[in-house]
Amino acid sequence: MKEIHEECGVLGIYGAEQASRLAFLGLQSLQHRGQQGCGIAATGDDGSIRLHKGAGLVKDVFSGADLERLQGRICIGHVRYPTTNVGGMENLQPFCISSKAGRFALAHNGNIVNVDSIRAHLETLGHLFHSTSDSELFGHLIGMEHVSNGWVANIISAARRLDGAFCTVIMADGVLYACRDKYGFHPLSLGKLGEGYVVASETCALNALGAEFIRDVEPGELVAIGPGGVESYRHSQFVGRRMCAMEYIYFARPDSDIEGCGVHIFRKRTGKLLYEEHPVPADIVTCVPESSQSAAIGYAEAGRIPLEMGLIKNMYVARTFIQPAQSMREIGVKMKLSPVRSVVRGKSVAVIDDSIVRGTTSRQIVQMLRDAGAREVHMLIASPKYAWPCFYGIDTGSKEQLIGSSHTTEEICKFIGADSLHYLSEKALFAASGRESLCTACFSGKYPTELYDHE
Ligand code: AMP
Ligand code: SF4
Repeated sequence: MKEIHEECGVLGIYGAEQASRLAFLGLQSLQHRGQQGCGIAATGDDGSIRLHKGAGLVKDVFSGADLERLQGRICIGHVRYPTTNVGGMENLQPFCISSKAGRFALAHNGNIVNVDSIRAHLETLGHLFHSTSDSELFGHLIGMEHVSNGWVANIISAARRLDGAFCTVIMADGVLYACRDKYGFHPLSLGKLGEGYVVASETCALNALGAEFIRDVEPGELVAIGPGGVESYRHSQFVGRRMCAMEYIYFARPDSDIEGCGVHIFRKRTGKLLYEEHPVPADIVTCVPESSQSAAIGYAEAGRIPLEMGLIKNMYVARTFIQPAQSMREIGVKMKLSPVRSVVRGKSVAVIDDSIVRGTTSRQIVQMLRDAGAREVHMLIASPKYAWPCFYGIDTGSKEQLIGSSHTTEEICKFIGADSLHYLSEKALFAASGRESLCTACFSGKYPTELYDHE
């Protein structure tokens, strides 16, 4: 099974002086969505598309000379997340594709669930693929349509064949297109940037560029941004509103707003509700920096318990998930986090984390707090029990790797060595978001789409 789960960030800029330099800044605000590699494709004034991409962080991949070469007022950019079975450089985006309809560039965030059947079909038609990426597949579908249909029709017809999660930016013939799957799994926002426009996976990138938020790209919508401004089309009449709960819980930056709900506010509310559902006898509350900071504030405030810095993070160590082997992952946690002995010694500590996936992090944290002299360690998770794999672009490994899929809460508590372990209820998750619908499949196993070959 080609299990390329692309947790990524996308960005598109239309009608701005030195667009690629702005994209360079905007992509750095999306860096938390992907650190494996990045790229920018820009349309020059002569209409040609130039591309630069590479492995590593945005600040390291682009030199001043690279940005100089990427001239023009329109560009798209991408950051890509490192996952365990990623393939190589060929999967870095954007992709530039030459087709019957002309040359275009495309970058994509999400995971398409019917990818295998479409790929097999295209291969029987003679299509050759250079990567294992869903985005290239999307590109082939767009490019195979006849030129006379026009890009809007081509993109709509391609989007209709795909099921699953995609937030895609496309640049063709001097127009920027942005489209979002009909379920609305991942965020994509539109902003005004001087005389031009910007689309980005998260509003934190709009803020960084000084753009004014206009609205979110709707589920099932295709926007075309050209000389006449923003035009809206639909590739599907269905509007799912199944925003990925993990975007709110873990993935997005706290200063982003997702479909009208601030991520920090959401997380703080989950902390408050977690206290209401599970008050524990703690002397201090600590977060696991930084992803559970907002939830820890909410828990501490609700319980009137001092919020302390029980753990600190070494900022210069990458996220543990990038270590493919379990042994490396365990060393990774120790390198990344350290207990503050003077704070935790002799105390009953409530540790707030956003999620438990494999259990590695929690187990190590409990052990390091005990070694540092904590009297009790209570682990409180600001999301429900993660027990089902994601097929929509958040990579957390297979079902067997998820400790919640095969262990009860009591068993997990024992495994991580905590005095108690508590999860947030699904009801509280919805209450915190103020929404009636979300994707919560990794907690409930109720997937919003068919799963095709993944079944
Ligand atoms: P684990 O050690 O496998 O239980 O991982 C749990 C930690 O990973 C939590 O502290 C989360 O902050 C973080 N996390 C949750 N989901 C993801 C994800 N999709 N990718 C990377 N890290 C994650
Ligand atoms: Fe997000 Fe979980 Fe749904 Fe995947 S299954 S899109 S991680 S909520």
